[in-house]
Amino acid sequence: MPLPTPHEAGRTPESPALPSEAPKTIGRGGRRVWLYPEWFRGRMLTLRTIVHWVFLAMLLIGPWINIGAHPAIRIDIVGRRIHFWGLHLFATDGSYLLFLFGFVVFAVFLFTALFGRVWCGWACPQTVFIESLVRPIERLIEGSAHERRKLDAAPWTIGKIARKLAKYASYVVIAGMIGTTFTAYFLGHEGTFEAQLHPSRHPAGTFTFLFVTGLLVFDFAYFREQVCLVVCPYGRFQSALTDRHSLMVLYDDPRGEPRGKKGTQGAGDCVDCNRCVQVCPTGTDIRRGVTMECTQCMACIDACDDVMGKLHRPLGLIKITSENAVARTPTHVVRPRVIVYAVGVAAVMLAFTVGVLRRSDIELNMSRQVGAPFIQLEGDRLQNSMNLRIANKGDVARTFTVAPVDPPELELIAPMSPFTVSPGAVDHMPVFLVLPRTAVVGRKQTVRLMVDDGAEFSQEVSTEFLGGGAK
Ligand code: SF4
Ligand code: SF4
Repeated sequence: MPLPTPHEAGRTPESPALPSEAPKTIGRGGRRVWLYPEWFRGRMLTLRTIVHWVFLAMLLIGPWINIGAHPAIRIDIVGRRIHFWGLHLFATDGSYLLFLFGFVVFAVFLFTALFGRVWCGWACPQTVFIESLVRPIERLIEGSAHERRKLDAAPWTIGKIARKLAKYASYVVIAGMIGTTFTAYFLGHEGTFEAQLHPSRHPAGTFTFLFVTGLLVFDFAYFREQVCLVVCPYGRFQSALTDRHSLMVLYDDPRGEPRGKKGTQGAGDCVDCNRCVQVCPTGTDIRRGVTMECTQCMACIDACDDVMGKLHRPLGLIKITSENAVARTPTHVVRPRVIVYAVGVAAVMLAFTVGVLRRSDIELNMSRQVGAPFIQLEGDRLQNSMNLRIANKGDVARTFTVAPVDPPELELIAPMSPFTVSPGAVDHMPVFLVLPRTAVVGRKQTVRLMVDDGAEFSQEVSTEFLGGGAK
């Protein structure tokens, strides 16, 4: 018979929540309890720090570097286009955004089913900022967990004020840098600097910068892990996405229990040193099993491995494993939910890739100019005024010419042809179609034009010529 998992052993649906199971950051009456997690150097922390810095670089450099003529990342709301690492999406490319959104959703489902909350501990911007920027600065200025606790309890002195000022000033600078980058996602660097230097010229940009910076300062200085515990919805629905085969950070309950000091007769491997709890940024005791508070940062793995190493016991009393493995039953990677999520990821990626590969760099439409649908000209002729809308989604400027195709008597007036459209731009070229009245009266007349750039692009556009009923 399989052994109960820590989850089942510690808490059943019928058992009332014990006070020890309440989040450690929330005290009686909802009071905030400030944590002082200890820092621990270990292989997981080293690996996680590298991953965090890669993600930080990806998050922060996008708006500041160019790929071709455009920023690597820019959500240009006014221009109705998105630049994403060389991919240029226009307002008419909504389907690609839908595919990308579908990919993110299915990928999160798939990764959660396979690896639990790996996103939370390793890739979420909140964790990346707090664990790899905010806490290292705090340690640098205020010292270890013990020293920080002592400093907070101490009376206000010049030294304490200086340290606190230095810490919060650092947070303001970092938050300001992130706020600037966030604003640059939307306004680009020039627009962002303009919003910062001349608020009256760009009030929305100034507000965005100040709002994001203020929010981050509040987060860095006060809210921190509360975001994961009381704000973020992901932690709440992750239990619906995982099962007993999913990998996550777990305590090897059968090996560790019953806890006892070294040498205690019949005791398991856990010596109840509490190191795993002391290093946890959310104050979680991993020995309670799977909880919403655990963000899978893996600090407890490093801490416990260190204890086991000193005791000359096998490492991995806390490790990345599945609930089934802890209960000594087989773990299966391939299972129905994994197959469904993987098929979802593959399907949206395929649709996205095919769509991008088949997408033309040039998008061409013809529409009527605002005003009278047609006008009468001298010599018993009729004129329709049209606009050619040309979107250049490529990286080089294109010059287009337009020529009449059909009917043979069509006269085309295109004062702006040849017409150059910059890379990433959408421009309108006015064209005037003229036909003798005899060519249109009493019948439907379709007019066709040819637009080409003298290189690889040429496309016909057509429209119905109006005015056939005119006397
Ligand atoms: S229990 Fe372990 S993995 Fe989970 S948040 Fe705490 S230290 Fe990180
Ligand atoms: S660090 Fe390891 S040995 Fe120490 S209390 Fe946690 S699980 Fe037990």
